[in-house]
Amino acid sequence: MGDSPDNTDSPPWDTGEQDNTPSAAELEAAGQNSMFGDAPAEPEKPAEPAPQAVEPKPAPAPAAAPAQANQPYRVLARKYRPQTFSELIGQEPMVRTLANAIERDRLAHAFLMTGVRGVGKTSTARLIAKGLNCIGPDGQGGPTIDPCGVCEPCTAIAEGRHIDVIEMDAASHTGVDDVREIIEAVRYAAVSARYKIYIIDEVHMLSRNAFNALLKTLEEPPAHVKFLFATTEVDKLPVTVLSRTQRFDLRRIPSEMLQEHFGKICGLENVEAEDEALHMIAAAAEGSVRDGLSILDQAIAHADLGGEGKVTAERVRDMLGLSDKTAQRRMLGLLLAGDGKGLLAAMADQYALGVEPLALLRGLMDLVHRITVAQVGGGEPDAPTSEERAALKDWAGKLSPGQLHRLWQLLLKGHEEVRQAPDPLISAQMALLRALHAADLPDPGKLAKKLEHLATTGIAAAPAGGEGGAPAAPAASANWKELVEQVEQNGNHLASSIMRLQVRVVSLESQTLRFSRPEQFKDDISAQLRDALMGATGDRWTVEECDEGGEMSLVEQDEAAQRSALEQLKKHPLVEATMAVFPDAEMVEEDNSAPQSRKAWGR
Ligand SMILES: [Zn+2]
Repeated sequence: MGDSPDNTDSPPWDTGEQDNTPSAAELEAAGQNSMFGDAPAEPEKPAEPAPQAVEPKPAPAPAAAPAQANQPYRVLARKYRPQTFSELIGQEPMVRTLANAIERDRLAHAFLMTGVRGVGKTSTARLIAKGLNCIGPDGQGGPTIDPCGVCEPCTAIAEGRHIDVIEMDAASHTGVDDVREIIEAVRYAAVSARYKIYIIDEVHMLSRNAFNALLKTLEEPPAHVKFLFATTEVDKLPVTVLSRTQRFDLRRIPSEMLQEHFGKICGLENVEAEDEALHMIAAAAEGSVRDGLSILDQAIAHADLGGEGKVTAERVRDMLGLSDKTAQRRMLGLLLAGDGKGLLAAMADQYALGVEPLALLRGLMDLVHRITVAQVGGGEPDAPTSEERAALKDWAGKLSPGQLHRLWQLLLKGHEEVRQAPDPLISAQMALLRALHAADLPDPGKLAKKLEHLATTGIAAAPAGGEGGAPAAPAASANWKELVEQVEQNGNHLASSIMRLQVRVVSLESQTLRFSRPEQFKDDISAQLRDALMGATGDRWTVEECDEGGEMSLVEQDEAAQRSALEQLKKHPLVEATMAVFPDAEMVEEDNSAPQSRKAWGR
């Protein structure tokens, strides 16, 4: 890296900066300091100040080496700051509007550039300043959307030394005095340029008084003055300011466009980079060219130190603390297949490789999101590698939308837990196992079905006359049940049916049966019972009907047992919750009570 034959003359601010790695001040100047801190770059910083000069390079011409050493390192974000509107990526609509305004000479007095950090707000402001003040190579040109870049105003503005283009950072100059200075100066005509241009960055940071002072000037600015405001937080601007400016919303730059851009820059820097590596950098940049270039800077530095000088996906992944895409897919596969053991082993592997549990969860969430998007979008999923596309497509076909959303929620909850947990790994394990086991829970859509199922299997499993429900059947009852079965086996179905339905046993001992019956039964069945019992047992029986008392009949006992089981079932938290939500729901018994086999995630 580092050889940039296209750029031999260095701007004044770069002279003297002979250090080959971006200095803290440089990163600071490029606004990149806050993103990753200095953690990843520092530990690998060698003692020698110029790593690539020391490193043996295979092919460089001997003459090239000293030139390289003299070439100061500039952070990519600064080196590749767009010098023309065509170099400004991702902001075509704004550039078109601006071109029209310049062409028709209908420029506003004040512009407001909004957008997230690093999308090119100040770059755009400088480009506008150039466009307005460019005089062309021959010194005869007028305002243009296509500044020549070679005339005195163009070069002076690019180097930040034009006397009539005043840049001010409102973050550090918030007071009314700072603004007053501007207002005073506004009255004087431009010294050398067509327009006097004030670029105020982070304009929302100005104090209320400062805004008020500015407002008067904004209302009736002199014709030779233009204000270019930039802000990340447009909501904080007073309406009075908004109403006096032409607003341009700079868009987040799509990840694909960033990837392409970074690819080009790698080409210019003679750095080889894997597509997936650039993809990861573009994704991490979240729409900001500057943030992306800052990561790329670090990645290139790492690649140089690492040997071949190639920016690989593996190194970028390490640098960003991302988990491996292949590993992520494998883990999701294990989770969906219900393989808890395999899942824990895979997690342990990732952890050993230095992947943070939180990043693990994040990776899985990202994957689930992409599957969902692929499912909604249909067609070919958007992914950097063919393996990933195939996997996304496969899952998008297999999983139902409900399952994907549930999985997302489980992972999101897990993510929150892991963030707060004293031991993130354990928390991550529990979260993923919970997601895995959730395959056993039914879809909300299938819940009703499952409840019916639970009702049936629950009753079958509950012992007859369980705790708290029907009274436990005493020995007499057990004997009675045996007797009834004997009568039935003897072929006396009428008698056995009467015995089940009507007879409440009061006592049963040594061939003497004392019983009562529910009051609706009036006829005398004593003789019938005596015959049936004798027929079944061969013994002579004494049968006596009493007015009251006795245990429940066998039929009554069955009914009570079922009621009890149902009550038990209703106390099940899942059922309780369902009943609370659907108060009118009722439980229906289903004949098919074959136990449902454990089901893995699948449609
Ligand atoms: Zn010019």
